[in-house]
Amino acid sequence: MAPNLLLLTAICRLIAIVGLTLHPTDLLLAGTETQLSFNRTDIQSASLDFGRMTITEPTAVLHPSSTGDVAKIIKLAYDSADGFVVSARGHGHSINGQSQAANGVVVQMSGSRGKPVAPEVSEKLMYVDVWGGELWIDVLKSTLPYGLAPKSWTDYLYLSVGGTLSNAGISGQAFNHGPQISNVHEVDVVTGKGDVVTCAEDKNPELFHAVMGGLGQFGIITRARIALEPSPRRVRWIRVLYSNFSEFTHDQEYLISLHGQPSSKKFDYVEGFVIVDEGLINNWRSSFFSPSNPVKISAIADGGNVLYCLEITKNYYNHSDPESVNQEVDALLKKLNYIPASVFTTDLPYVDFLNRVHKAEMKLRSKGLWDVPHPWLNLFVPKSRINDFDEGVFKGILGNKTSGPILIYPMNKNKWDKETSVVTPTEEVFYLVALLRSALQNGDEALTIERLNNENRQILKFCEDEKIGIKQYLPHYTTQEEWMNHYGEKWPQFYKRKMEFDPRHILATGQRIFEPSFISSMKSW
Ligand code: FAD
Repeated sequence: MAPNLLLLTAICRLIAIVGLTLHPTDLLLAGTETQLSFNRTDIQSASLDFGRMTITEPTAVLHPSSTGDVAKIIKLAYDSADGFVVSARGHGHSINGQSQAANGVVVQMSGSRGKPVAPEVSEKLMYVDVWGGELWIDVLKSTLPYGLAPKSWTDYLYLSVGGTLSNAGISGQAFNHGPQISNVHEVDVVTGKGDVVTCAEDKNPELFHAVMGGLGQFGIITRARIALEPSPRRVRWIRVLYSNFSEFTHDQEYLISLHGQPSSKKFDYVEGFVIVDEGLINNWRSSFFSPSNPVKISAIADGGNVLYCLEITKNYYNHSDPESVNQEVDALLKKLNYIPASVFTTDLPYVDFLNRVHKAEMKLRSKGLWDVPHPWLNLFVPKSRINDFDEGVFKGILGNKTSGPILIYPMNKNKWDKETSVVTPTEEVFYLVALLRSALQNGDEALTIERLNNENRQILKFCEDEKIGIKQYLPHYTTQEEWMNHYGEKWPQFYKRKMEFDPRHILATGQRIFEPSFISSMKSW
């Protein structure tokens, strides 16, 4: 079939399903350059995400070739009498259907068949301009030939730029550089009215701040200008263990308090994780340890106590003398109170460190353990209540089988721009606690989806009952009341921005914050 005829058929189907009232010729004109797909494989892929717990089918999937394509489809939805919803999908790594679009159009930003613009590096000004659907691994590949790299990362690089900027984008560098949203100079955004707007701190700042951590509510990010730094060549990667939680958090907090120091006097990355079971060797962050390490670790654990692992790195450059790296590391380690026999060190290229989770992904994929349900729960916990959280959750609610890594590391609030849409606890230092668990059907009752979801509910209830003051990261709620509670005093601003930039509530309805204004004409939401 000729491309235009194919498109016309597709549009007619869209009209039939969602009841658009525009004339087909207008639609054809509006859509001539777009690549709207009704292919079953495309629809099924867009109706699923990494969480594998929510399945919602769109009517069509758009593979945009440009910002203009994104603008056309949104404008169409905005101008049509009956309307339809539009959601950007990065790499579909959400947990609860956040990038899905019931009976609407999913804009597949990553792996776009239309091959939108390639990354463009400015060596002089140390930034890279990238398409909103670019994966971070490809951003890195584009900057390395210039000896440059982004400053702030996520642990896993097969996530899209637009997807992580719509949340925050955090990893062990956040204490020092802030989240990824603190390292963006400028973005192009297509708003819920179909307008294309370039924005930055000093150019349309309201929209800029709205989309940073905005959960896709205010526009689709089609280009981002990301700050770069000279890329380190190698990384000294160190893990040390603690059996005492207070000593563990004391040391983590000390290390992040060094953020203002020269680089020789601080680590470049500070994370940590909880070890409550023998499953360490099987989880996706365990590639660090050699086969003999778990034996050593279980000897240290001495009878199944909860252990805490501090994970730190020191980056170095070609010219760095390895001996001076040793000295800098030793000087910092001397200040810490870990179990003396528990230092594990490795040294590897910077790229291999950044891409460490992909290695583990490949292993899990080969065992059929990657495409399973992931009832993940990510929380920001204020520093003053982290001990209570440890007692109630790590040593309480969690059994002795965790079914996945549990990360814990602190961050400095002053590295987060308070004008953005993200909400964090009120205290100056807060922790990320990430329960990254996989549900398995291997006959072990402790690992079922029901059991893990039930534990998540218990954890949230414990935090509420004990007034811990948490905020969810990658938040998931199903009622507007819960969302208002999540945003707290930021809700009026969030609401006002929504009315300004997406007044018909077309965008990212999978987040379940706002109902589309044309809900009655939709089959389901
Ligand atoms: P999607 O899941 O496709 O989209 C997420 C939301 O953003 C949706 O609402 C979508 O509509 C919206 N969106 C997507 N693209 C755009 C765009 N261009 N413009 C506007 N809105 C858009 N997060 C961290 O911060 N740190 C980590 O270390 C980390 N590690 C992870 C490891 C793994 C294995 C996985 C699966 C996830 C991890 N995440 C981490 C979470 C990740 O940040 C989220 O899944 C996020 O949603 C990015 O995924 P995505 O690019 O696939 O976006």
